Amino acid sequence: MLSQEMIKLGTQRSVIRELFAYGLQRAEVVGAENVLDFSLGNPSVPAPKEVQEAIIDIVKNNDPMVYHGYSTSQGHAGCRKAIAGNLNKRFNKAYSPNDFFITCGAAASLCITFRAVTASSQDEIIVLAPYFPEYKVFIEGQGAKMKLVPSRSDMKLNLEGIKKAVNKNTKALLINSPNNPSGVVYSKEEIKELSDYLMKMQEELSQTIYLISDEPYRELVFSDEPVPFIPHYYDNTIICYSWSKSLSMPGERIGYILVNDKCQDNETVMAAVGGAARALGYVCAPTLFQLVIEKCIDVKPNLEVYKKNRDILYEGLTKMGYKVAKPDGAFYLFIEAPNGNSEEFSEKAKAHDVLVVPGAGFGTDTHLRLSYCVDTEKCEKALPVFEKLIKEYK
Ligand code: PLP
Repeated sequence: MLSQEMIKLGTQRSVIRELFAYGLQRAEVVGAENVLDFSLGNPSVPAPKEVQEAIIDIVKNNDPMVYHGYSTSQGHAGCRKAIAGNLNKRFNKAYSPNDFFITCGAAASLCITFRAVTASSQDEIIVLAPYFPEYKVFIEGQGAKMKLVPSRSDMKLNLEGIKKAVNKNTKALLINSPNNPSGVVYSKEEIKELSDYLMKMQEELSQTIYLISDEPYRELVFSDEPVPFIPHYYDNTIICYSWSKSLSMPGERIGYILVNDKCQDNETVMAAVGGAARALGYVCAPTLFQLVIEKCIDVKPNLEVYKKNRDILYEGLTKMGYKVAKPDGAFYLFIEAPNGNSEEFSEKAKAHDVLVVPGAGFGTDTHLRLSYCVDTEKCEKALPVFEKLIKEYK
């Protein structure tokens, strides 16, 4: 007998994928240049040339038995050393390679971490809306519960909501900044306030509460203000990172888990991470790309196009009267539907070949996600459509 739950998961419709597939169909009819598809979060900037050079160098000058072979379960030591060195330099820390577990991207980092920190179906992980829709699948897939905290209207961190959600069953709180789908970056004041509150609750409830920070967009920020480094504020931090977006290589499946060195019983937590990775079959991330990361650890993404697109859309849409949380990072805008009905707005936009994702899947159904990792020309072409649409509501 097959798992009914898994059949359901495997056949459930994904609004994002459906919109994307619709866009491909429409492109055959009206031409790809006339379909303004803002549905997918696939980087539109190619991987930096250093990545390609590193691949060629490794393949040309190294033993294939090494780069095509298994690494250790935890990951190639040179790769972990390079990551530790990079973070130590940037954030004045003293991490060792043993604080890292290399993974097949942030998705694997998250599943492993959820599995490691929860042990029963009563265990809860607090998630803040709006959120990356796969969180629900990842958490429930590990047998735990996702406890949702609604968003604030400005999409900033809803501490009041978190205070109502924390209880005896809370094992962890998950944050994602820069955020998918809002692009909002939490300030250091917000992180400090959250950390102080969690420390107080750990004492009050006599339990550990992990702060899991999902950071695939850490390097994608447009302001000069750096994204706060969570371990500076909270000891029991676990970071789930990936190079899918920052080095534009989501297909290569490469990321890591950092168990903060100050995390209580950090060696035991790392053992649980190793065990969870083993149980899930997520050991030995692709060796070739671990070697690439070792070489490219200091390479920075080119943010020029994303910033330009962000400016065009954010300024254009707010001038027209749309309510949009200011996105300081990632490549998403989260727009409030003029009458609060995002399904209806998405359908109306679709009739003009503008594809934007309604917010229900992100836990905030009044809003729409617009992924602006597209050609700038498409952002410019979409503005008159948005203007026409908002006028229909006035
Ligand atoms: N977390 C967030 C917030 C994301 O947006 C994504 C991918 O879009 C992931 C995790 C998964 O990233 P990866 O491709 O590294 O598995």
